[in-house]
Amino acid sequence: MTQIAPGVFSMKQNKGGHVHAFLLDNASELTLIDTLFNTDARQVLDRIKSIGRTIQDLKHIVLTHGHRSHLGGLATLKRLSGATVYSHEWEADIIAGERPAQPVTIIPMRPLSIYWRVYYLQFGAALGRGKHPPCPVDSTLKDGDMVGPAQVLHTPGHTPGHLAFWWGERQVLFAGDAIATYPEFEAGWPAFNLNPTQQRTSIRRMADLEAEVVAVGHGDPITGGAAERLRSLIQPEVPASVV
Ligand SMILES: [Zn+2]
Ligand SMILES: [Zn+2]
Repeated sequence: MTQIAPGVFSMKQNKGGHVHAFLLDNASELTLIDTLFNTDARQVLDRIKSIGRTIQDLKHIVLTHGHRSHLGGLATLKRLSGATVYSHEWEADIIAGERPAQPVTIIPMRPLSIYWRVYYLQFGAALGRGKHPPCPVDSTLKDGDMVGPAQVLHTPGHTPGHLAFWWGERQVLFAGDAIATYPEFEAGWPAFNLNPTQQRTSIRRMADLEAEVVAVGHGDPITGGAAERLRSLIQPEVPASVV
């Protein structure tokens, strides 16, 4: 099942930690959220063709953030489509290849029985390994902007310029790496959350949207009762008196 809501198509690769990208078709134009791991963009190109569209219909390429797994096909897709490339300002120079992504901790995530599956990615991110073909960002996005049919939500925590997208009319939230369903359902891979306080705020904000479907950066989309599952990730506030 690759159509996860009307006009929303999911693409995935086992590489890059079961990374996903999403194609949004709002009848007039196509918008792509993230670009998968492989640099040839083959899967995205095939999917565009399979829904009866051409690469010229792709008008917007938006990046949730500047991590390698999400940037593989970007330069190829930009060259073939001429689409406008967007990200948050904080991520733009990473995507353009002018600055490395902020390193994450090398200490393995717990439980090891689950997170060993993505440790190779954490190890790479800790050492600053893994380069993507660089591509300049044409336009920066901030909270509340619209791109294609989707509203931009600035959801820092995983990275400072992390963006999520909300297609309100279809009740679909694209949560990027703020939420993961692989290797398990979690408020992002713990070791990758650079700022846990910001991350908690971002999760709360996304849980308030009443999403039917939540599409995430790593793992399968949540295609029913998504808002309820998001609320299960909210950690209770610790009263100041007990700290
Ligand atoms: Zn990431
Ligand atoms: Zn990722």
